[in-house]
Amino acid sequence: MNTETYNNSIERFRGAIQIDTSWPEGAEKAQNEGQIAEQNLAQFQDFLVSAYPHFHTVVERTLLSPYSVIYRWPGKGTASQGHPQSADSLPVLFLAHYDVVPADREFWSCDPYGAEIREGYLYGRGTLDTKNTLICAMEAAEKLIQQGFVPERDIWFAFGGDEERSGAFGAERTAAWFKERGIEFAWTLDEGSIVALNQIPGVTKPLALIGVEEKGFLDIELLVEQAPGHASRPPEKQAVAILAEALVRLSKKPFPYRLIPSVESFFTSLAPLADTQTSKGKLQALVLSRPRLLGPLFFKLAGTSPATGALLRTTLAMTQLFGAKADNILPAEARAILNLRLLPGDTIESALEYVREAIGMDEVLVQPSPYRSANNPVPADRETAAGRGPGWTNLTQALSSTFPEAVPLPFLVTATTDSRHYASLCQAVYRFGPLELPPEEVSRIHGHDERISLENFAKGISFYEKLFEQL
Ligand SMILES: [Zn+2]
Repeated sequence: MNTETYNNSIERFRGAIQIDTSWPEGAEKAQNEGQIAEQNLAQFQDFLVSAYPHFHTVVERTLLSPYSVIYRWPGKGTASQGHPQSADSLPVLFLAHYDVVPADREFWSCDPYGAEIREGYLYGRGTLDTKNTLICAMEAAEKLIQQGFVPERDIWFAFGGDEERSGAFGAERTAAWFKERGIEFAWTLDEGSIVALNQIPGVTKPLALIGVEEKGFLDIELLVEQAPGHASRPPEKQAVAILAEALVRLSKKPFPYRLIPSVESFFTSLAPLADTQTSKGKLQALVLSRPRLLGPLFFKLAGTSPATGALLRTTLAMTQLFGAKADNILPAEARAILNLRLLPGDTIESALEYVREAIGMDEVLVQPSPYRSANNPVPADRETAAGRGPGWTNLTQALSSTFPEAVPLPFLVTATTDSRHYASLCQAVYRFGPLELPPEEVSRIHGHDERISLENFAKGISFYEKLFEQL
């Protein structure tokens, strides 16, 4: 890339960051704030039109709402000859969201929407999550179109404006739009994972963790009722104590460990990368290479880290407690919220049943929280889970030219992404953003001083270029 083109790319990226597309807390209630937030989302959609003129002359653009914009980049159509339903002929879909989580300005060293550049980094909300993937894809497409490139098959883009709030207006409606038209895809690429540095102790190579499956999400409410009244006359059995007993029982009975195919592929592919210079490293390599055979030893070893433990079971985090509104009233109800991330194989129903049984107390009502919608895990078929699904080769080839050191591994994503709404339309779903980060940079996602290195930005563009060229 010549210097001028590169500088223009950075300027456009800065322009994208400077539009505050966050949804202020409680804006649904304050109508005015909601309107402003929607205007900003629409402004971002307009920004794309003016920033990428060549792209917009060749694509079909469909605007569903401030929360959804869809693009079809028409291919030559040659790929569809002969095998109308094969994975090679179906279009490919790229997903991203342009909304961001709000930024707590007092904790930032700069304006979160100032797009300041300091020591090789661009600072701003959305630089990692995930205006970066959106803009890198746009930059790559714009550049290729300027060079006269036409993709072999149709490439689609669907960008959402409310991923951080569930995707109900964006991704969900966009997926329904595709479904109504009978448009299906060979595979899709969304955010959800990265090239991780120093993630696994004893493994020094960068790991391109390509998300092939996604955990489910469920908030459970535990409720214990009692007669309200004055705190000077408490009953013998108090609601809070019963609730506490339930929580203790639960913490003694975590969900059991289970090895699912994508996680098994992940660990066995990791085994040859372990540093075998030390005896500890040798043991690690051995255990990782035969997770199923070594069962309990493997789980004991892997389960010691919360990050790897989360790959092996449905997790349950106790996140919120509610009692009386004042110190001198008996609460009419004591309530706890549990946040569960469901391992593929579990369902919302089976997890509720497990929690009810682990507690085993009639006084405790166990129900899905009415405040957050739940979703089941998004599993992959066996081939995709093992890193052999449609699109895997395309992704790994694009990776090898931009991140030559990185080892691609199939991975289970423990957070939720917009892609779950599209799963029934795609033969394979991948969750991966082309950027390389150590853990301390990852913690800036949804945190303070979110930033991206300009090197990562440039590599991101070239990743999408390589990808589009070989589809
Ligand atoms: Zn995101």
